[in-house]
Amino acid sequence: MISSPHAAINFSGSAPAWDDLGLADYGYSIVCSPIIFGVTGRDGKNCLVYYDAAKTAESFGRHSANDGETVEKIESRVVGNLAEFNELLCYSLPTPDRLEKLWKFAAWVFDVPLDDFQTMNGFELLETTFESDYARRTLITLPSLNLMGDVGSRGQGAATIVFNLVYTSAQAVGGNHSLAHAMTRIFLEDGGTVLRNCPVERIIVHNGRAIGVDLSPEAASTEKTLYARKAVISNLGARVTLDVVGEDVMKAVDAKLWAKMKYWKTDFRASTMSNWIMRGHPRWKSADYDPAIQKAHLLYRAWDSWEHCKEWHEAFASGDRSRVIGGLGEILDFSVVDPTQISPEGYLAVRCEEAMPLHWRREGKGLDHWDDVKEELKAQRDDLFEELAPGFKEQMLDHAYYTPLDLWRYNPVAVYGQVIGGDFSEDQWYLDRMPYRMPVQGLYMSNNVWPLALSWMAPGYNAASAVAEDLGIRNQPWWSSRSGDWFLRNIPKLIREG
Ligand SMILES: Cc1cc2nc3c(=O)[nH]c(=O)nc-3n(C[C@H](O)[C@H](O)[C@H](O)COP(=O)(O)OP(=O)(O)OC[C@H]3O[C@@H](n4cnc5c(N)ncnc54)[C@H](O)[C@@H]3O)c2cc1C
Repeated sequence: MISSPHAAINFSGSAPAWDDLGLADYGYSIVCSPIIFGVTGRDGKNCLVYYDAAKTAESFGRHSANDGETVEKIESRVVGNLAEFNELLCYSLPTPDRLEKLWKFAAWVFDVPLDDFQTMNGFELLETTFESDYARRTLITLPSLNLMGDVGSRGQGAATIVFNLVYTSAQAVGGNHSLAHAMTRIFLEDGGTVLRNCPVERIIVHNGRAIGVDLSPEAASTEKTLYARKAVISNLGARVTLDVVGEDVMKAVDAKLWAKMKYWKTDFRASTMSNWIMRGHPRWKSADYDPAIQKAHLLYRAWDSWEHCKEWHEAFASGDRSRVIGGLGEILDFSVVDPTQISPEGYLAVRCEEAMPLHWRREGKGLDHWDDVKEELKAQRDDLFEELAPGFKEQMLDHAYYTPLDLWRYNPVAVYGQVIGGDFSEDQWYLDRMPYRMPVQGLYMSNNVWPLALSWMAPGYNAASAVAEDLGIRNQPWWSSRSGDWFLRNIPKLIREG
């Protein structure tokens, strides 16, 4: 059984590619739980976010009747405007005008005057909106992974709480790799050529224009230099793109951007990953409180209290690992919605990603210390899961644990194991990400841009749009569908009750 340590939640539901490219005609299908995600507690309680806002209200309402009403209103506002919100936030190039609209939209979703909203961090927004501990913790799970902003920053922190409400969560039938296979088939059918195992050593810049690439001598291609007819798109992120373009070239073209690329920050949130092979699904302790938790494929271990959550954030920022470990985990039980991923003997994969500080400075150790502590961290995670789902260790057949160094070893672009595009901090947010259109003519970026890299394919969509606009070919009758339309149209057929 093979399980990727990376894309476990399939976010492709929001991609316009479903209708634009006819993804479903290429052997690609997704299935969902009625629950987008949930939080399962050590105290035996849970809190669930459903595609149906009334059901979300019921679950939140068990913790506080007021919170039930509030969350229903918030979710209805997001879902009722999903296409507009998704287009503004993800499937378009960042512009000042769009940023203004995003601010207004985000403040409206939470019913907060814009001036106040822009001075609030994520904690303040949740504390002034929700009264129950569970509601607050549930809505800060994804933002705490530093996906679209820093929850602790003023303004940006409040915005990132709203931005993280946009995700759809699903599983591709047969495994998420099916998406890459379908996209490759479409590309080949439309005349594309795929060259695998061909590392680029240099992007050739001639007279201020990117005109092609030099491949490494070991590249599995007879031709070692490839010339671009129209454009070169780099998916290598800031640092590796700088290496292959050359520092002198970038410095001469745009010294400020050179500095941004050279010192692009990717070391705030490091990922550690567990993949277990289990005999049967974990039986969550909170199933007695609300058995619906067993239908959720995406779950979070989200601290023991709101105070614990706030302490965890403080400890994270100061690199105090001992107070971070075991606080927040993103858990996937893939086969709850896709039984094709269960072996005939009943074995299945469960995964947990836990964010941790990258550096070991407090401990006086270097980054290679990750290799020394792997076994210890792995055992600690098993202990945590035994508490969340009694009997877990008994059901466990194998546990593969990946440190941030392991993830980086997999993928050189993932500096420090960071594959979603680097830190989302005040100086690396929305307009301050890498530009899709580079100042070198004919060169485009599709990684470390806005938004983050995920299976939702938004950066690829935007990079393709930028190139097509510049070539004057963006207006195509087939390239017109709206983000999330396909998903909302099809959701009743996609949901599996588990
Ligand atoms: C721990 C973790 C968990 C994640 N969980 C999820 C999730 O649940 N759901 C989700 O949707 N996403 C998730 N992601 C993000 C997901 O993995 C990324 O969105 C995805 O990998 C980005 O794909 P990409 O093809 O744009 O870039 P990458 O996967 O970074 O691809 C870049 C490619 O470039 C290659 N390369 C490097 N150097 C060169 C060179 N010089 N020349 C040519 N090629 C080169 C690399 O080998 C790599 O194959 C997760 C990531 C991590 C690290």
